[in-house]
Amino acid sequence: MNIILLGPPGAGKGTQARKLVEKRGMVQLSTGDMLRAARSSGTAMGKRVAEVMDRGELVTDEIVIDLIEERLEGETGAGVIFDGFPRTLAQADALEELLARTGQPLKAVIEMRVDDEALVRRVTGRYTCADCGEVYHDETRPTKTPGKCDVCGSTDLRRREDDNAESMRQRLMEYYKKTSPLIGYYHAKGLLHPVDGLGSVDEVEAAITAILDAV
Ligand code: ADP
Ligand code: AMP
Repeated sequence: MNIILLGPPGAGKGTQARKLVEKRGMVQLSTGDMLRAARSSGTAMGKRVAEVMDRGELVTDEIVIDLIEERLEGETGAGVIFDGFPRTLAQADALEELLARTGQPLKAVIEMRVDDEALVRRVTGRYTCADCGEVYHDETRPTKTPGKCDVCGSTDLRRREDDNAESMRQRLMEYYKKTSPLIGYYHAKGLLHPVDGLGSVDEVEAAITAILDAV
């Protein structure tokens, strides 16, 4: 079952995608994670997009569509969770074409709704385990032992360069201008399922589970 988690930065897409991977054996494809990996391994593309990402702007459609196309090749498992992709109508059209080729169309688009104030609080308190990718928050989801990942025990916990209030303003602007039109696009296709993203991680997970069990 292929699905999209759609929502502004900090809505909880990555957190919920990890739950779906754990519970349903789905595969998480996060273009943000792929771009950060390209940056840290110093590829030419990674260097090109670093400044754009730090400013909080979207990288070009061509780059992210190529990344997704590469990763989708040979994907035949329990389904893919698209996390942070598509972010423009052009990306949505490209995804539709790619999935038509695999014969596995989208089953649902989960729109995670969270207000701006909460989003800023979420991203400014976010940190992530560099080894296993678990996502934490200073207030709402701290590690049980300070400085140590609950899941893998790593002490390499990191904050993102772009998780600051200034970059967040730009990222929200990009979301409302370029990504939010996808809400209408998927509504028109009958695929949209809004979820209140302001609840606890467990409450949001339960809401998503109910939707996926029904589609
Ligand atoms: P996204 O992938 O949409 O940018 P994340 O999943 O990384 O968002 O979550 C952003 C921050 O908010 C993280 O610090 C995460 O721990 C926290 N978070 C995620 N879901 C919730 C929730 N339901 N309630 C409170 N905090 C949350
Ligand atoms: P994320 O991890 O999803 O918050 O993404 C971090 C940054 O990576 C964004 O602010 C963009 O600069 C870039 N990015 C991630 N996914 C996309 C996408 N689908 N299209 C364009 N830019 C993206």
